[in-house]
Amino acid sequence: MQCSESMEIIPGVHQIDGVNGNCYIIMGDGMVLVDTGLPGNTGKILTYVHDTLGGIPSDIETIILTHYHLDHTGNAYELWDITGAKVAIHVDDADYVAGIRAMPVPQGLIGLLYRMFKIFFKFKPVQPDILLHDNDQIAGLTCIHTPGHTSGSICLYDPKFRVLFAGDTLRYSDGKLGGPSPRFTPDMEQAEQSIKKVAGLEFDILLPGHGVPLMSGASEKVREFSLSLP
Ligand SMILES: [Zn+2]
Ligand SMILES: [Zn+2]
Repeated sequence: MQCSESMEIIPGVHQIDGVNGNCYIIMGDGMVLVDTGLPGNTGKILTYVHDTLGGIPSDIETIILTHYHLDHTGNAYELWDITGAKVAIHVDDADYVAGIRAMPVPQGLIGLLYRMFKIFFKFKPVQPDILLHDNDQIAGLTCIHTPGHTSGSICLYDPKFRVLFAGDTLRYSDGKLGGPSPRFTPDMEQAEQSIKKVAGLEFDILLPGHGVPLMSGASEKVREFSLSLP
């Protein structure tokens, strides 16, 4: 698939193909980027903005990071530098992206792989401009604090268009909803509480940080899933 092919999921919301974790652009007065993918995807994102959306880098006004993990924040510094956008993240994850606190390394073999991965993908810290709290409004979205996967994980809720950007709090792939990967989630119990919190919202569409969009009846499916949790 060419970079210039449009990936408009719903009117005004695009997903940039081949950027993992998933990276979304919301069109408004200015463009809003939700997550930035692994390092090395800045060019892909800006090509999409230019070729498909007919925009220039400075049209991106806000970059919202759902949590500090490298597969969501990997291009935040470069994009902030090139676009002049404001970078927003929950206050509890801010010190990790700012490079003030070291990102925790998972235990065991995964930890070893993670360390190699970190050497391979050099993370450039970025100083957040906006520190988010539960229920804050940002670019027309409500910040829902959903700790567990990381302490500052958030979902972004648009009650008007009934859309939820789930970050890594919920996954959707192969027709199945799931919680975050336990290997990368230090507090699963808290993450499950967060899923129950999100299950209380009303939305049709769920846009996860990994997997594919869930395009209908999403909150109903999240409620069903939350009932299967301890
Ligand atoms: Zn992720
Ligand atoms: Zn994550």
